[in-house]
Amino acid sequence: MASEINKVDLGSAALMVVDEVHAMLAYWDKDLVCRFANAAYLEFFGRTREEMVDKMSIDQLLGPLFELNLPYIKGVLAGAAQLFERAIPIPTGDVRYTLANYLPHIIDGQVLGFFVHVADITPTKMLEKELLRIRLLETKNKDLEHFAHIASHDLQEPLATVRSYIGILEHEYATKMDQKAMLYLKGIDKSVTRMSTLVKALADLSRLGLLGEKTQVNCNAILKEVEEDLASQIRLAGAAFSVSPLPTVTGYAVELRQLFQNIISNALKFRKQDVAPLISINCTLIDGFWQFAIADNGIGIAAKYYDKIFDIFKRLHLKQQYDGEGIGLANCKKIAELHGGKIWVTSVEGQGSTFYFTIPQTQNDHA
Ligand code: ADP
Repeated sequence: MASEINKVDLGSAALMVVDEVHAMLAYWDKDLVCRFANAAYLEFFGRTREEMVDKMSIDQLLGPLFELNLPYIKGVLAGAAQLFERAIPIPTGDVRYTLANYLPHIIDGQVLGFFVHVADITPTKMLEKELLRIRLLETKNKDLEHFAHIASHDLQEPLATVRSYIGILEHEYATKMDQKAMLYLKGIDKSVTRMSTLVKALADLSRLGLLGEKTQVNCNAILKEVEEDLASQIRLAGAAFSVSPLPTVTGYAVELRQLFQNIISNALKFRKQDVAPLISINCTLIDGFWQFAIADNGIGIAAKYYDKIFDIFKRLHLKQQYDGEGIGLANCKKIAELHGGKIWVTSVEGQGSTFYFTIPQTQNDHA
């Protein structure tokens, strides 16, 4: 009697366990009638146990999927285990991905039915797709960089030729040209010089991160160097700094220095007339990322340009107003992304801007 009770208890306990697991479990007999289905299986197909068990046949349940699954059903009824993936459209319009496992139930050489184990692999599939997308994007980016590198490198040569011909014209034909012609020549020379600067900037951008290795970079030391490099501009503008202690991070030292330098020199450049620049720098650790903030009290940026200013050669002002090539922030974006971080800006026009960038924290870093 005691062993009878034990059997009943174990049976219901086992049922409870299989109802708790996330995988879908079922048993179909050789006539393809459902004999068992756990809660996950019932939920996936939107059925109740009363509707399914001992009543429903597999073709009724699977509908249009039945034809697709038939080769596997035949296979398992012939005694061979089956494993296959399936994309199943669900009523919301989404698709769920499953990995189904059919195992034959064989006694005395006879197949009595089969066990079904179906895992919902949608999150894994989504991750796979996302990884594929990222890989494609990385390849495209690499191709683009390669193209930019080659193009900018190759363009330097014809530009140098044009410049040397300008030089020849200026020196050897100076007496043969009237003033107007000389003026045109000066115009050509200016444009060629500018083009050469842009092409070099493009070449530099495509080279970022190609050299060097990541090391421990003390951002306080970097900032000190940048301040030294910009000393005359800082003095000229009468700029003041307010800096909180910065961390030591893992990154490319040369590039990180360039990142600080570009943002700080912009803060000096895009200052308000007659207002001494005040530049505040701090860093906070947020969700595994060092988040740097460099704030100025300059002219500010309209919200519609928050993204655009990080595009290469994008400038909001005439060269006569504020000098520059529109390459600094494109470099900054590439450097932040090279480190696995991001860069963005918030600003109030006429009051100032704050540039933020993030660098992932690693275990060797310290505040
Ligand atoms: P550049 O400084 O050579 O023009 P950048 O790529 O560094 O190029 O900057 C792009 C544009 O973003 C600038 O031309 C300017 O219009 C705007 N900008 C950048 N930094 C600031 C800042 N601190 N305050 C206001 N505008 C800025």
